[in-house]
Amino acid sequence: MKSHYGIYGGQYVAETLMAPLQELEAAYEAARKDPEFKREFDEIMRDYVGRESPITYARRLSEHLGGARILLKREDLNHTGAHKVNNTIGQALLARRMGKKRLIAETGAGMHGVATATVAALFGMPCEVYMGAIDVERQAPNVERMKMLGAKVHPVTEGSATLKDAMNEALRDWVSNCDDTFYVIGTVAGPAPYPEMVRDFQSVIGVEARRQCLEKFGRLPDEAIACVGGGSNAMGLFAGFIDDPEVKLVGVEAGGRGLSGHEHAASINGGRLGVLHGAKTMLLQTDEGNVIDTYSVSAGLDYPGVGPEHCHLHDTGRAEYAVIDDDEAIAAFDALCRFEGIIPALESSHALAEAIKRAPRLGRDRLLLVNLSGRGDKDMENVMRYKASRSGASAAEGKAAV
Ligand SMILES: *Cc1c(COP(=O)(O)O)cnc(C)c1O
Repeated sequence: MKSHYGIYGGQYVAETLMAPLQELEAAYEAARKDPEFKREFDEIMRDYVGRESPITYARRLSEHLGGARILLKREDLNHTGAHKVNNTIGQALLARRMGKKRLIAETGAGMHGVATATVAALFGMPCEVYMGAIDVERQAPNVERMKMLGAKVHPVTEGSATLKDAMNEALRDWVSNCDDTFYVIGTVAGPAPYPEMVRDFQSVIGVEARRQCLEKFGRLPDEAIACVGGGSNAMGLFAGFIDDPEVKLVGVEAGGRGLSGHEHAASINGGRLGVLHGAKTMLLQTDEGNVIDTYSVSAGLDYPGVGPEHCHLHDTGRAEYAVIDDDEAIAAFDALCRFEGIIPALESSHALAEAIKRAPRLGRDRLLLVNLSGRGDKDMENVMRYKASRSGASAAEGKAAV
């Protein structure tokens, strides 16, 4: 199995984790070649997740912008409301095949925790989720969801009590319990084979989208655009078009309050090479090499690193990585609500905002395919709070000007 992407990736873990990683690698290699594994995955995708997800032409938004046509790959319509479940189902199937009895996960905003708790219930497996104590407070509704689904949530108080500390705790649990425990990682990060395995499970997005585009529009999109937190929905979309050099691949990072300070989550555009979560990758760190807590209006993009394959795609030029800040994401969120009757996740709104920037510069014959990674019901309170703080800020700016 390929464990490196250029200089990125690998297995930078304690010696004690090498054996469980090798066991996982061997099991995944066997599973991916087994037609029965694929049949079962496809069946759950269809009957439980509700795939395939459609492609929607955003007609009113596109006509308003007066340029390229914007197409939406509707991962928001999946059961649980986002793409994450594609991956947790794949990993739970693999866990069962390996005879593992217990699922563990780490979560930041709580979405991966919910997706893992969901499949644990579906497969009748106990599930424990590590979550920074600060995130437990910030993301209370998702903590309730996980509990409702039968999972146990462990608040982590070490370090800054956020995602990176939760990852360390989950790894620690795995080392001690790897005989009966499967560690479900939520994005294309972590030590090999996770980045490749998660990409493969999420590639259902891109493979479907490519076929749907050809069927519906008789051609491939000109650009495939997706937001990048850890990078799993983007890798899933890109996987369908990676061998089509005429399709531009565009990842969109969270610019938060701007790249000049620390308040963003743009690991490729604003980070440096380091080791996080068992892999060599670009990450946000201080000059001393300490991991910095990220910031974005969208909690799901708040991962201080990024999947190693994205770093490689960036270096080789196969994909480009743009930055969208909080204000632009919120404006895109509003636009999709008003023009299309779709409330998008704030994460996905970053990808949409990039398409909104690009569309007017392109002709009507061009197609921009945006991965709508999730629905935005979970973000309502965040959006309202953000708008309230902005109107407060502009009122203050107005006064200062007078
Ligand atoms: C978690 C999440 C993301 C970010 O994760 P990736 O691994 O980068 O895809 C994006 N969109 C939604 C809706 C999410 O829940």
